[in-house]
Amino acid sequence: MTQPQSEATKGRAARDRAGAESEGMRGQVLFRQLNEQIRSLAGGFGLDAELDLVCECTNGGCFERLIVSTEDYEAIRRFPTRFLVKPRHDAGQVERIVEETAHFLVVERIGADAEAAIQLDPRRRGRRRELVERPLVRLEVT
Ligand SMILES: [Zn+2]
Repeated sequence: MTQPQSEATKGRAARDRAGAESEGMRGQVLFRQLNEQIRSLAGGFGLDAELDLVCECTNGGCFERLIVSTEDYEAIRRFPTRFLVKPRHDAGQVERIVEETAHFLVVERIGADAEAAIQLDPRRRGRRRELVERPLVRLEVT
């Protein structure tokens, strides 16, 4: 299922790098949300279970799949500025590689987009929603 990165894909990544960081950022944030949904569906399975995720690189057209253990995935999600991408899918100046394996890279967003990555962290919003909504749900039940 995996294909080598095409020349067209590389060209697009280069354009993103040139000046449209926030465009790449949107893609990353969307794919992170998608992976969070996959993670929550896997829910009850143990930490050694494997998750079938999608690449979170800045190339919005990249739908490459990544198989990562739940444990590794949880370790990455502890940092709102970190994203999971395929090897060689890192975006150069806007992020740095913090972990490298044969199957995936963990990249950390740097500069202005790091702040946006934190603001848009689905876990951050999830926690807040939980705090607000749980008592309301309890009131409806009783
Ligand atoms: Zn990718």
